[in-house]
Amino acid sequence: VDKSGIVSYKKKPTSELMAAIQLGIGQSVGGLSSKPERDVLMQDFGVVEVVFFPGEGSNLTPAHHYSDFRFKTYAPVAFRYFRDLFGIQPDDFMLSLCDEPLKELSNPGASGSIFYLTQDDEFIIKTVQHKEAEFLQKLLPGYFLNISQNKRTLLPKFYGLYCYQCSGKNIRFTVMNNLLPSTVKLHEKYDMKGSTYKRKASKHERSKSSPTLKDLDFMDNHPEGLQLEKDTYDALIKTLQRDCRVLESFKIMDYSLLVGIYNLDLANKEKKQIQEFQSQQYCNTFITRHFWNRQSQSTVQQQQIQLQQDKEQSENYGSSQSRSDRTDTRNSLHRGKSFKTRIGQYSTPMESIQGVTDLNEEIDEDTDVPPGGIPARNAKGERLLIYLGIIDILQSFRLKKRLEHTMKSIVIDGDTISVHRPSYYAQRFLQYHATRVFKKTPTALKHSPSKKR
Ligand code: ATP
Ligand code: CA
Ligand code: CA
Repeated sequence: VDKSGIVSYKKKPTSELMAAIQLGIGQSVGGLSSKPERDVLMQDFGVVEVVFFPGEGSNLTPAHHYSDFRFKTYAPVAFRYFRDLFGIQPDDFMLSLCDEPLKELSNPGASGSIFYLTQDDEFIIKTVQHKEAEFLQKLLPGYFLNISQNKRTLLPKFYGLYCYQCSGKNIRFTVMNNLLPSTVKLHEKYDMKGSTYKRKASKHERSKSSPTLKDLDFMDNHPEGLQLEKDTYDALIKTLQRDCRVLESFKIMDYSLLVGIYNLDLANKEKKQIQEFQSQQYCNTFITRHFWNRQSQSTVQQQQIQLQQDKEQSENYGSSQSRSDRTDTRNSLHRGKSFKTRIGQYSTPMESIQGVTDLNEEIDEDTDVPPGGIPARNAKGERLLIYLGIIDILQSFRLKKRLEHTMKSIVIDGDTISVHRPSYYAQRFLQYHATRVFKKTPTALKHSPSKKR
């Protein structure tokens, strides 16, 4: 961020980067429609498509107000197949990514990557380093093998890998699934590795309104872990085991489990408080008005005027309300999505571990909580919905960790450092989540919030 408040990445204003990404993806996905669908061949994984975007436009690309740039699409046909496998239509993909401005997220990570989120909450764009992009390219055939065999997975869903090239700079980025809803405020968010070394969120992070906490914070806040019903617990741990086996086979480490917690009971309490506050405000207004009217020797006539005004106001409010409702319905019809199912439309946490769509009957009709959260309870017995997935898997042990490992093991007890052999890493990651974070409830716990209200 510079003095005038302009955010840059590799000295490119991010607004320019965002615009170029949107132009590039639009062209790339749109252009694919002319290529017939077919099975993926081994050589598709190595293909890189390059398109030049001159400011004045070309027969392939629209004109734009930014510096000329090149846009690379890695393995376009393979990624088209992945998107199709994940149920993403090309039109929806383009609408989400290219039609509306992207939202920039603040990144709690240390790597300096930039994250963008699409308006509809569906996709995340993350800038990646050269090495990570290279690694993802190498990973593609194995990744492809895995997702075609196994739909139940919490591994990141990669929908695309691209590179923006401008005046000698290369900015590579992936498009992935967004794991956490941004439309509802999650009560807690954790990025966990199963390590204790440096696994506490910084003061700066904790001062944020929606901080991403870490392992040690979790153990402080939930010394007894989160209770899951037996079947759910088994499905979750089995999925994690499978995923870890895949990650280990690629010598990947340093990944995290991202866990978002929505506390239904707390949310209801908060809602009540807001309602009480609002009705209090209303009373105050009423009292003030009454007082005023008396002061000005109010007549019945005046009161009637006031009543009429109130009525008009509320009618206006009602009509503008329904207008926006209608727009919303039209938009969602257009996109084949209802507002409530927007996030996790393509895969909810529940689907990721059970492989079936079990759209929450759990959810109160009048909340905006995205469907498919995993039902759980905390130690107080409060009802929770959990959103989760594995993230940051593009670090391979082979690439750069060896030196770091040797150095840190000299200084610190090898058991507690987060950089470790991949198999040890996977083991510890699993152990931690299966015993410290998630627990099987001793009693049956079918929680159905709507019935309990
Ligand atoms: P570092 O390498 O320093 O750990 P990074 O830049 O590689 O950081 P990640 O670890 O991938 O970044 O992610 C950082 C944070 O961004 C996560 O803790 C999480 O809060 C958020 N995040 C990352 N991926 C997703 C996702 N798919 N959905 C929602 N949030 C995400
Ligand atoms: Ca990370
Ligand atoms: Ca990383």
